[in-house]
Order: sequence, then C-alpha cells, then structure tokens
Amino acid sequence: MFQIFSKNKMWRKRPLKDRYEVVIIGGGVHGLSTAYYLGKQGITDVAVLDKGYLGGGASARTTAIIRSNYLTPEGIPFFNESVKLYEGLAKELNFNMLFNQMGRLDLGHTDSAVYGLRMRTEFNRILGVDSRLIGPKEIKKLVPPMDLREGKNFPILAALYHPPCGVIRHDAVVWGYGRGADRQGAELHPFTEVTGIDRTNGRVTGVETSQGLVKANTIISATAGWSSTIAKMVDLDLPITTHALQAMVTEPLKPFLDKTISSANLHAYVYQTDRGEVVIGGGVDPYPSYSQRSSFQPMEELAAHVLEMFPCLKNVNVLRQWAGLCDMTPDYAPIMGPVDGIDGFILTCGWGSWGFKAAPVAGKRIAELIATGETPDLIKPFALSRFREGKLVNERAAAPAAAIH
Ligand SMILES: Cc1cc2nc3c(=O)[nH]c(=O)nc-3n(C[C@H](O)[C@H](O)[C@H](O)COP(=O)(O)OP(=O)(O)OC[C@H]3O[C@@H](n4cnc5c(N)ncnc54)[C@H](O)[C@@H]3O)c2cc1C
Repeated sequence: MFQIFSKNKMWRKRPLKDRYEVVIIGGGVHGLSTAYYLGKQGITDVAVLDKGYLGGGASARTTAIIRSNYLTPEGIPFFNESVKLYEGLAKELNFNMLFNQMGRLDLGHTDSAVYGLRMRTEFNRILGVDSRLIGPKEIKKLVPPMDLREGKNFPILAALYHPPCGVIRHDAVVWGYGRGADRQGAELHPFTEVTGIDRTNGRVTGVETSQGLVKANTIISATAGWSSTIAKMVDLDLPITTHALQAMVTEPLKPFLDKTISSANLHAYVYQTDRGEVVIGGGVDPYPSYSQRSSFQPMEELAAHVLEMFPCLKNVNVLRQWAGLCDMTPDYAPIMGPVDGIDGFILTCGWGSWGFKAAPVAGKRIAELIATGETPDLIKPFALSRFREGKLVNERAAAPAAAIH
C-alpha cells in the first residue's frame, strides 16, 4: 500500500525494507544489469543501493564503445557474448538504445604494433569474432579524412578492422536495465550509502546504510571506482587502484567520420556521434585519484594526438570535458565472483576503462552464479584468486586506446 507507481516513471520509489535476499551495492550499469538478470533467474527479492543517483558514476561518464576485439582466449569469448547481448538489448528491454554498430579501426604505427594487431586479429578470427587486418588503401576508403601521408612521426601502416564495434546511448542502457529490474520486482534505492558490512562466522549478514541496517544473504559489490573502499569493509585488499579517465567532445560538425578510431601509440580514440559531435578519449590519468575533475593537460595532449590522425579538426572548438573513475587491475581484466573466506560476498569490479561493454554478460553470468551456486565457465578465469595463483589474464594490449601507466 506504500507503493507509488506511475506509468510515466521509469521505476518505483519504495520504502527500504530491513531484509532482502540479495543486496547490490552500486546502481551503475553493472548493478542494474545484475538486478535485471537476477529477476530473469526468478530472484526478485533484491535491492540496489546507490549513494548517489542511479547511473551517476562511471556509467554516466563513459564513451560507451562496445566491441569484442580483445586479445586473450578468456577475454574474447566473454566480450563477444556481451556484444551479442547488446545486439538484442533494445528489443529485450523494449527501450531504444540507439546502438550504432559503425565498426572500428585500431591503428598500427610501428612494425611491432602491427605485429600485435596481427596476433589479435588471428585470435579474434579463431574464436569467431569478425576482425581483419587491413592496409592503408582500405583504411583510406573507410575513413577518407584520415591523414595517411608517409614519413610522419606516426605513419599509419595498418589497422585491425572490427566491423561489429558500436556505440550505444549509455544512459538508455542504464535506464532500460533499471526499468527492467523494477518491473521484475527488484527495488532501486538511490541516495542510500553503504557505510559498513556486517559479518558473522565468516559470512556476510547485512549492510549498514545511511538509511539504517539492511540484512541480506548475498551482497554484491558493483561499485567500480569505489570497489576498494567497499572491499575494505570486509577487510579485503583488492589489487585495484582507482584512476580518473578523461574525455571530451567538440562542437557538432557535418558527418565526416563513421567509424571509431583508436591508436594505442597515440593514446587516443575518436568517433563522431549521431549529433555530429566528435568524442575524444584516451588512457587513464597516470596517478591514482578519486577526483572526478578534468584537467587541461590531458585535453591538450588528446587534441594534439587526434590532430595527428585528423588534421581537418584543427579549428574545431571543444564543447565539454569530463572525468570518471576507473578501477584498474594489474592485468587490465575484470574481477568477478565469490571471495574465499567471505561467504555471501560477490565481486563484480575491475571494470577499469573497458567495463561498459561488459555489463550485459557480467550481469547475466553473476546472476547465474547466484541462482545456481556454480561459477559459470565464462567468468571462472576472472576470479580474484587468479592474482594469488599467478594466472593473470593479460588484456593490457587490447585495453582502450592506451595503457599509459
Ligand atoms: C571517461 C570514460 C570513458 C569510458 N569509456 C568506455 C567505453 O568506451 N567502453 C567501455 O566499455 N567502458 C568505458 N568506460 C568504463 C565504463 O564506463 C565503466 O567500466 C562502467 O561504467 C562501470 O560500471 P559500474 O556499474 O561497475 O560502475 P559505476 O557506473 O561507477 O557505478 C558504481 C556505483 O556505485 C556507487 N557507490 C559507490 N560507493 C558506494 C557506497 N558506499 N554505497 C552505495 N553506492 C556506492 C556509485 O555512486 C556509483 O553509482 C569509460 C569510463 C570513463 C570514466
């Protein structure tokens, strides 16, 4: 009888109960997708708690590139399943997400970079991902304004072309998952900060929040840049450092670019949105920080590096610049699953600068893990224990645009 539900609202505002089967800390794309897929598994006694508004963390600041041209036999099938889920997501959630699969070129400027791209291409193809290595002639055809002159500091020798890569409207993904989770029965509680986690006999029992104590059998941390602070609440040190990632967007231009372009050597990536703005991003700031403020130096460097590829942008104004937090792991791969010795505590973090694209597959597989008690094979390689066992999944070479630290 306390429920307020309007057809025009994306989700209901409901009073916080004192117990749930599952509490998800973090209402970003990962927390909400996990709540949605839990509902599909029949688990609906779920609360998503966020200290701010829903989707206001990295999910609000992402440049939302979706792709699966990774490097490792663990990463490629994982990200590929996510691309497939994204392809059907607008239909599944009945929400237009403007997913534009424009394709992507990862540029090689040196012989060793081209060798790396060739290796990635071959691994992609063996594992059923649509990628191929192309030379300057085809690059020019696909991206006419790109500067392909020889003899430059960073000549463009070849590119890994990955046609399924796309860009999606990030807030629509967050809202679509939020609405879907709500319709299945999950409760979404923004402005509810978790301040502590209670444990008895090695098992989590509930969370202390700004709205009081909430008990739960299972607690999922989906807090990206803040994952280490949540882990500390159960005396766990994660191999994660938090860094700001900055991006910027120019004034709108007539359409001139219909691919996403990334250069690891130049630490920059770029694409043009449907509105005509040019989105420009790069690698994370090289020092750990929880600041979400952007700064001048990265903007200057990004601009210089993008001009190296597209001199035609030289007189274009930058409209906006922003920063979000990234939870970076040493091997540039995520951390998912239970934690030895802390029963009922599940991690989905280490999403760094690559996590938006993984939200569907991660949410789906974490929900499967909670429903069955078994870790699905697809996410087993991403267990926290890999750092203790020395079984790293090295995705650094395929990280977005640039691993600069
Ligand atoms: C500039 C930028 C560009 C990016 N570009 C891409 C890209 O092109 N492609 C890609 O795949 N990825 C990209 N990423 C990475 C991607 O955005 C993130 O990995 C992803 O959004 C993480 O989602 P999340 O739900 O795990 O975290 P978030 O969206 O950060 O959500 C975590 C939530 O936890 C909440 N929280 C934290 N502490 C508490 C607490 N104590 N109590 C309650 N709630 C708490 C926060 O308020 C936040 O809302 C980019 C990131 C940035 C910053």
